[in-house]
Amino acid sequence: MTGKGNKGFIKFISDFRRSAALAALCVLLVVSAAGCGTADSTSGGSAGADAGKAVQGDTTEHSTTVFAMDTVMNITTYGGSDELLNKVQSRIEQLESMFSTTDENSEIYAVNRDGSAKVSSDTETLTKFALDICGKTNGALDISIYPVVREWGFTTGDFKVPDDSVIKDLLTHVDYRKVKLDENEDTITLDKDMKIDLGSVAKGYTGDRIIDMLKEAGVQSALLDLGGNIQTLGSKTDGSDWRVAVQDPKDPSSGDYLGVVAISDKAVITSGGYERYFQGPDGKTYWHIIDPSTGRPAENGLISVTIIGDKGVYCDSLSTSLFIMGKEKAAEFWKQYQDFDMVLVSDDGEVDITEGIADRFELSNTKDYHLNVISR
Ligand code: ADP
Ligand code: MG
Repeated sequence: MTGKGNKGFIKFISDFRRSAALAALCVLLVVSAAGCGTADSTSGGSAGADAGKAVQGDTTEHSTTVFAMDTVMNITTYGGSDELLNKVQSRIEQLESMFSTTDENSEIYAVNRDGSAKVSSDTETLTKFALDICGKTNGALDISIYPVVREWGFTTGDFKVPDDSVIKDLLTHVDYRKVKLDENEDTITLDKDMKIDLGSVAKGYTGDRIIDMLKEAGVQSALLDLGGNIQTLGSKTDGSDWRVAVQDPKDPSSGDYLGVVAISDKAVITSGGYERYFQGPDGKTYWHIIDPSTGRPAENGLISVTIIGDKGVYCDSLSTSLFIMGKEKAAEFWKQYQDFDMVLVSDDGEVDITEGIADRFELSNTKDYHLNVISR
């Protein structure tokens, strides 16, 4: 099956973005192939399964590729059915059609255009969650950064380095505390000239909803690659952990990886400067993760942040915000909450991992990188 419903978003995928997404996929397959190959395909299939329900004990592989949310999504289930994956694809498309900042029919588009709009429970739930993380990270995550992100061209592909005065002016409209979510009326209301973007958390939320659907259908083993966001359900069919590759942020197109983390039933979500960027006239690289305190791409020595935890949306929110906070603040944040693990990669070749994954993470590229463990 291939993605049937690739809509407006795909036209914004620039070539490097597309190849980065494909490279991410290849890396993952290389690492997980050993286990995926053990899936038992002799167990009779599940064509007759009731409304996409998994057949007990069936581990037949089903997979689909969906182009959505500006990226390539690959979903593989062991057990389940093609019918179930069709439903998953529809759900992804439904979520995209609510959260998109560029689709004129989306709920977020209506909020941004009209300053106030009624929203679905998905948009309300995700916005509420994101606002909570905006507060916990002291505004490193700020969903109202959108006007600045757009000015840099990251939503249109029309990249430019904005003048300082333009950034300064746009930043006066950035403040997540002014986003009003009315849970009785189901509305989101913004101050004048404010605009919001759930791009930092949408894929993680989508992954969580897919995992829910698969679980409900009785699937016990699945691997989601939502544009480099890896989310797993259960373990591999032989009972062993998934081995998830963390990309080498210095050389993402080589297909080489920095290391491998062995996990079951977890999300492994990375934000990196290499994911979407352009080169300015000054030869400098500018990427899509913007520090709301400066209005410019976050620059603190970190080149990628991978978060490992139970919920995709939480990991997605933290991969973006800890990338902005930098190594020291990220370590403090981890010590305060301790409900996730992380791999921080710095431009000087230092790799800092939290002690919760110390015996689950293997550094593959020992030539260019040096491993440290952050303890409690
Ligand atoms: P990706 O979508 O590449 O996996 P992220 O999850 O890190 O990466 O999200 C990056 C997206 O989040 C950007 O494309 C932009 O839309 C948005 N964004 C950038 N900076 C911020 C920020 N400080 N707070 C909230 N959202 C941001
Ligand atoms: Mg994120």
